[in-house]
Amino acid sequence: MCEHRNKVGDNYGLTCLDCGTVLEGYGYRVQSPTCRHVWLKGEGGYECLYCEEWLNEETWQMFYDNPIGV
Ligand SMILES: [Zn+2]
Ligand SMILES: [Zn+2]
Repeated sequence: MCEHRNKVGDNYGLTCLDCGTVLEGYGYRVQSPTCRHVWLKGEGGYECLYCEEWLNEETWQMFYDNPIGV
């Protein structure tokens, strides 16, 4: 994630105005074909704020809570 502070967002996502990097979701006005998920913890799992993809807690931990990283 970039260090710029000029960010613009809407229902689809969040984009950096300085370098154009999609920071969250699909970016402002859907700039990216893939969603940069922002997971919100719900009951028994996690839901993406933007694309509403759902992962149960076990799967989420497998992908995102790995100390080795990706
Ligand atoms: Zn930037
Ligand atoms: Zn998503």
